[in-house]
Amino acid sequence: MGKFYVTTSIPYVNAEPHIGFALEIIQADVLARYHRHKGEDVFFLTGADEHGVKIVRAAEVAGKTLQDFTDGVTKKFEDLKKVLNLSWDDFIRTSDKKKHWPGAQKLWLKLYGAGKLYKKSYKGIYCIGHEAFITEKDLVNGKCKDHQKEPEIVEEENWFFKLSDYTKEIKAKIESDELQIVPKSRKNEILALINEGLEDISFSRPHENLSWGVPVPNDPKHIMYVWCDALSNYISALGYGQKENSKFKIKNLKFAKYWPADVQVIGKDILRFHAAIWPGMLLAAKLPLPKTIFVHGFITVGDKKMSKTIGNVIDPFEVVKKYGADALRYYLLREIPSGEDGDFTYEKFEERYNADLAKGLGNLVARVLALAQKNSAIKNKVFNTNIKKIEKQIEKLIKEFKFNDALSVLWQLVALGNKYIDEKKPWTLKPDSKEFKEIVGSLLFLISDIGVLLSPFLPETSEKISGQLKNRKISILFPQLK
Ligand SMILES: [Zn+2]
Repeated sequence: MGKFYVTTSIPYVNAEPHIGFALEIIQADVLARYHRHKGEDVFFLTGADEHGVKIVRAAEVAGKTLQDFTDGVTKKFEDLKKVLNLSWDDFIRTSDKKKHWPGAQKLWLKLYGAGKLYKKSYKGIYCIGHEAFITEKDLVNGKCKDHQKEPEIVEEENWFFKLSDYTKEIKAKIESDELQIVPKSRKNEILALINEGLEDISFSRPHENLSWGVPVPNDPKHIMYVWCDALSNYISALGYGQKENSKFKIKNLKFAKYWPADVQVIGKDILRFHAAIWPGMLLAAKLPLPKTIFVHGFITVGDKKMSKTIGNVIDPFEVVKKYGADALRYYLLREIPSGEDGDFTYEKFEERYNADLAKGLGNLVARVLALAQKNSAIKNKVFNTNIKKIEKQIEKLIKEFKFNDALSVLWQLVALGNKYIDEKKPWTLKPDSKEFKEIVGSLLFLISDIGVLLSPFLPETSEKISGQLKNRKISILFPQLK
């Protein structure tokens, strides 16, 4: 059986998790669970990006030490595992000196050894909000248009990475889908950007301007800038850079086994980092590129951008507390078109919940189990063809990362079951008649398969359905909301 390595981006821990990241990590979780279910050897990685100037300032404001501050926010991200019922295998933190730093430093030395890092004095306008040098084009009335802040003028010596050397190679790999970018619109977007030419990028900052980060191994007065520090997490977590155990090479086994990543799930705002800078680094280090980068869109709230100033940030912890993990998983997977932007409102959320979960699925399971109480069932596979067909469609849609369409197709089976009961009206039949028993038998078969097909998407509900089937016990899956 094959292996499957899936990663999420590592969120920057200067703010607590919102539903945008919940969407990303739930999408990755569906992939991990789906491939595990197929019997593949899955490794699912997430983590936290904990370094940088913004964290230093946020910790100062909070009156905490850097480690205390990052420990606190990172814990919130780690808590998502239980709250959203996620199945990640590892959580990597970039402040982890033992687990992460050796990998980041080894990768740096590979690039340095290949002659792809050079030092250059650099003067530019620096936006703290971006945590990056920006250009005059990014300014409106002298302020950064994204952060409404005046940039600082910074002159310093930086290490630079010769990304420009890899323009052609990266372009060819993306064009041929050797590095597949999904959806197509994002592939076109990054190709357009690459066609303008990739520029060399600043890869380090002097220690006095950036103290919180991974030291540059060949120049301790410098600290790695985010690229080598954060992007390297995808391999450091697999043991890249760890000293090999001479006898068994135990620590490097994971890297040898799982790299390259099969799917890297990211948001559209970091497409350039993952589809240009990261491949450039891997090429320079002579490492294989990830096979696929899947790019999701953003979630708006009532068609407005989520922002603290507007006060419309949706907290996944709150939603789950009120409605349960599977209700949130369902909404994000079903309502947000997986590769595009989507919208969240509590109104739409409750509508989906009532129609699809309470009335649709919950009702079907309760009705079938109520019928099954009356008498024994006869095995009957009326729905076999439909189920097989839909199973195939779901497989194809997951391959295309169309989670919303996969759930829509799966719900055709739910509708089919409810319609079948309405038409057959089994309650008008004698419970010990063959016809009654066959109807119930076919319905039991149907909901059992629905439960299995649901397992990557709504794992808890899937388990509940199989438990109820086993014990023939009815308990409400999703209570109707008023
Ligand atoms: Zn900015």
